[in-house]
Amino acid sequence: MAVAPSAELTIDLGALVANYRLLKSRAAPADCAAAIKAGAYGLGAERAAPALFDAGCRHFFVATLDEGIALRAAVPRAEIYVLSGTLGGDEPEFRAHRLAPVLNSRPQIERWWTWSISGAAVPAALHIDTGMSRLGLSADELEWLIDNPKLLGLMPVPLVLSHLACSEDTANPLNREQLARWRAALDRLLPLLPKRPILTFANSSGIFLGPDFHFDLVRPGAALYGINPTPGAPNPMNQVVGLKARILQVRQIDRGQTVGYGAHRSTRATRLATLGLGYADGIPRSLTNVGAAFVGQVRAPFVGRVSMDLIAIDVGDVPAHLAEPGAWVEILGPQQSADDLGAAAGTIGYEILTSLGSRYQRRYLPAG
Ligand SMILES: *Cc1c(COP(=O)(O)O)cnc(C)c1O
Repeated sequence: MAVAPSAELTIDLGALVANYRLLKSRAAPADCAAAIKAGAYGLGAERAAPALFDAGCRHFFVATLDEGIALRAAVPRAEIYVLSGTLGGDEPEFRAHRLAPVLNSRPQIERWWTWSISGAAVPAALHIDTGMSRLGLSADELEWLIDNPKLLGLMPVPLVLSHLACSEDTANPLNREQLARWRAALDRLLPLLPKRPILTFANSSGIFLGPDFHFDLVRPGAALYGINPTPGAPNPMNQVVGLKARILQVRQIDRGQTVGYGAHRSTRATRLATLGLGYADGIPRSLTNVGAAFVGQVRAPFVGRVSMDLIAIDVGDVPAHLAEPGAWVEILGPQQSADDLGAAAGTIGYEILTSLGSRYQRRYLPAG
């Protein structure tokens, strides 16, 4: 841990758990899993997962085998699914750590089946593509699988999933089209499975499309971490992440004085404060001249380019005693969400959270 941190990230596990409970109640009677890939969207899976497990979460989705192995140590008794599936040769790792790969393609199924019949059958989930064209069985591959039911008889399949492409856009007709494709695929697939699997379809925003989308288990990620699952309407989630930075130095500048790389010329005479964080900490360089911090209640715009470790802000409108070297300013908090910062940067809150750097001092507020 840093001796005298220039920036501090606070992760409120109580807010995380409250978000889990809220999503679970919205999805009831369906159960609620957690998408915890990319280190719980940058918040730290090793801390987030046990808090969610204690709140009743039993199903976790990660992107990669490595993430699954790390997560297994954090939640020894949970079900963990690896969304990228198996790359071949890694089967013993899945077994050793009791991780279920999500099989996405015919080659993945064939490889897993071949390995399973050698006596080592380990449960594997199936992903049916209904409109993402990224991962998951295509329509042709699904036909092939339905024509080869013996594969399904020998391979335990505890869970089947599909993924929505635009669930945050409630009016988009693709939501209902995907739902229809998903139902049609299940009508043909489920009779071939010896045991009825858990069916899971909705991500965070999908939960808010209504009960038709819930099935047995919902799989939120972003909303757990405070991202608004209903863009355009007020955010029902609690804010989980806070980020504050310290002022390193303050100076008076003249109108036209140059600031930072590329020599941005100040549009006014003002006071500048220099913050000790930058794009190496996940503050996008695209926030140059458009981002802002909050000093007390006052918005202090970024001036000039965001550099690797430093950002200049205009504190000309801030009471001088609040903008002294050593003072803390808010980057993410009650006055500026990850969604807000993402919008200003031309990206989304998801990318802001998953980019949060490793240099911050991290402080976890306990759940209980
Ligand atoms: C990331 C992911 C989720 C969670 O999506 P959010 O929009 O963050 O709720 C669910 N399912 C799959 C397959 C994913 O890749």
